[in-house]
Amino acid sequence: MQTAIPLSLLQRPEIAEADAILRSCVHCGFCTATCPTYQLLGSELDSPRGRIYLIKEMLEGKQSGEKTRLHLDRCLTCRSCETTCPSGVQYGRLIDIGRNEIEQRAPRPLWSRLIRQAMLTVMPYTPRMRIALLLGKLSRPLLPASLRRKLPLARAALPRPSALHQRRMLVLEGCVQPLTAPTTNAAAARVLDKLGISLLSAAEAGCCGAMHKHLSAAESARDMMRRNIDAWWPYIDDGIEAIVMTASGCGVMVKDYGHALQGDPAYATKAACISALTRDLSEILRNENISQFAGSGKGRRVACQSSCTLQHGQKLGGVVEKILQQCGYTLTPVADSHLCCGAAGTYTLLQPVLSQQLLQNKLVALQQGEPDVIATSNIGCQLHLESASKLPVRHWIELLDTN
Ligand code: SF4
Ligand code: SF4
Repeated sequence: MQTAIPLSLLQRPEIAEADAILRSCVHCGFCTATCPTYQLLGSELDSPRGRIYLIKEMLEGKQSGEKTRLHLDRCLTCRSCETTCPSGVQYGRLIDIGRNEIEQRAPRPLWSRLIRQAMLTVMPYTPRMRIALLLGKLSRPLLPASLRRKLPLARAALPRPSALHQRRMLVLEGCVQPLTAPTTNAAAARVLDKLGISLLSAAEAGCCGAMHKHLSAAESARDMMRRNIDAWWPYIDDGIEAIVMTASGCGVMVKDYGHALQGDPAYATKAACISALTRDLSEILRNENISQFAGSGKGRRVACQSSCTLQHGQKLGGVVEKILQQCGYTLTPVADSHLCCGAAGTYTLLQPVLSQQLLQNKLVALQQGEPDVIATSNIGCQLHLESASKLPVRHWIELLDTN
């Protein structure tokens, strides 16, 4: 695609990057076939190709108003279009740059800014989120049904092992997951312990920064990255093997630290090292001998929800499915498994109508093979799916932690 972005703008590294991405798009439209918002709304401007065109027009100075912001806001950042694109267009990078740009050029109304700021002030901080959840539970009878369903179920985690093995890995506890699904990291620690690996965590680490990044608070996101790097660095000096992510949404973010901090002389090298050491839990398990878990499934039927951040963001589609099969589970068919469930970070709160439509479609697809349980790899998807599912929704590692 030809572009005509003013030279003065191209001096900025992120705009030069956007220009290169725009030029790699040949406008073929293959990506529209796998875009969830295009499938729901049928509008070119709600397709990847349409959004790419809107970003190009904005950077060329033709238009950058509410219309552009509306269609960029409706994008789930699921990156299904990236998986489909035959030209390798890095849409995920482009939409981040486009969103940061539109925030400057077309400021949101006050109420919208206040809602987004409230989310950023509470959700990525575990102690604040704990209070918010407590208030939500206390006022449960007064809440509308739509909000009541979003309150997470109570889950008690089994104890983590105390033995310290020679093989050690770090795990990110995250911000929301310790409160809503402490079972996940406990199960990961117990399973890895059986493989002779200790899972450690750094108390000072916290939110990966994804929420700030998605809400175009780029500098705050980088501050969170720097804090995590500082928290993890002593463990890296001490020879840990890997940094394990049990939420694929965090994993895709931490794997991008190297790119996000490449312009920061104090952190660029460390950030690249952190990204290179980061693995999704499924990447660890697929390289270990997991034969001791072969009888875990006993033929139980499981529908696997392949989170977008795992299959499109990290290109690890099919890995969890294979592990579950090796562990004796029977996978049930799931139609349109490339489509997003509608969770997508804060999308469920900011785009409730589209999010609920995607959720209902996803649940129909997951339940069609009559599974006993739904497995996922991301806390956001887990909470979103179980807000409307009649079946239990578990992180897949819990299915291996059976005794
Ligand atoms: S993003 Fe890829 S698939 Fe979509 S129009 Fe551009 S080149 Fe074609
Ligand atoms: S990231 Fe997802 S929702 Fe956004 S344009 Fe691509 S396929 Fe569509």
